[in-house]
Amino acid sequence: MECISTAEDSKIIKGFCMEKRENADILGCRVDLLTAEEAISGIKSIIDRGQPAHIITLNAEIVYQAQSSQDLRTIINSADLITPDGIGIVWAGRKLGFNIRERVTGIDLFYRLCQEAPVEQWKIYLLGSAPGVADAAASKLAITYPGLQICGTHHGYFGEEDMPAMVQEIRELAPHILFVALGAPKQETWIKKYKEQLGVPACIGVGGSLDVIAGYKKRAPGWMIKINMEWLYRLLAEPSRFKRQLVLPKFVTLILKNKHKRRI
Ligand code: UDP
Repeated sequence: MECISTAEDSKIIKGFCMEKRENADILGCRVDLLTAEEAISGIKSIIDRGQPAHIITLNAEIVYQAQSSQDLRTIINSADLITPDGIGIVWAGRKLGFNIRERVTGIDLFYRLCQEAPVEQWKIYLLGSAPGVADAAASKLAITYPGLQICGTHHGYFGEEDMPAMVQEIRELAPHILFVALGAPKQETWIKKYKEQLGVPACIGVGGSLDVIAGYKKRAPGWMIKINMEWLYRLLAEPSRFKRQLVLPKFVTLILKNKHKRRI
């Protein structure tokens, strides 16, 4: 099975990503063909390198939005590490002939990194969600992962005018990992814009993860995740997502149309 990078902007891949990492092109968006284990070791290398980096957990909704936004495609394709988050991406990648081995979700990476952090002496910062959610998530994480250094939190409802103080605070606290839970693609745009100023080695967009960790929202039960029905659980739990999920059949149609047009 061929695993050749064909994403239009994938030559922008930089830093340690210059290594021969295999990636797929899904409708012009790059996704790295990594397992969760490989993603964690990639993030370790990113943190060791110490330069600000952007990590994206890609799903079908973002790729669909990127079809009408060259800016969003550029943001995605210039990220340092991109994992296949949703089952839509896994399905699409396989349909296009790429070797996507498993889903690597934002929340799974979140938990795995919190497990590694005390061992590696990494500090983490939680940014995003409604006021109080990041603090509640921090309390839960501190209990689950003894020794975890959570150096700061901030809710996700801030304005441009708040940015100078936030940048200064995060720079001073100098976390190794910044979890950004503003929802996609807002978090991707925000990270791209501020990562150099923030100077944080690993900036990761994690969508609604803080709500789940804090206990305000439930994740699908394990058996549903296993049979790739997490999207259905989220839809039933939050019917307001219905409109967003309407893009999924459109995404599927686009993939089927492009199945034979894979560029090499
Ligand atoms: N959010 C935020 N600031 C905003 C918009 C959204 O902090 O300006 C938060 C919102 O409170 C929620 C998260 O971003 O916690 C988005 O969650 P969702 O499940 O919609 O994200 P997804 O995982 O689907 O990208």
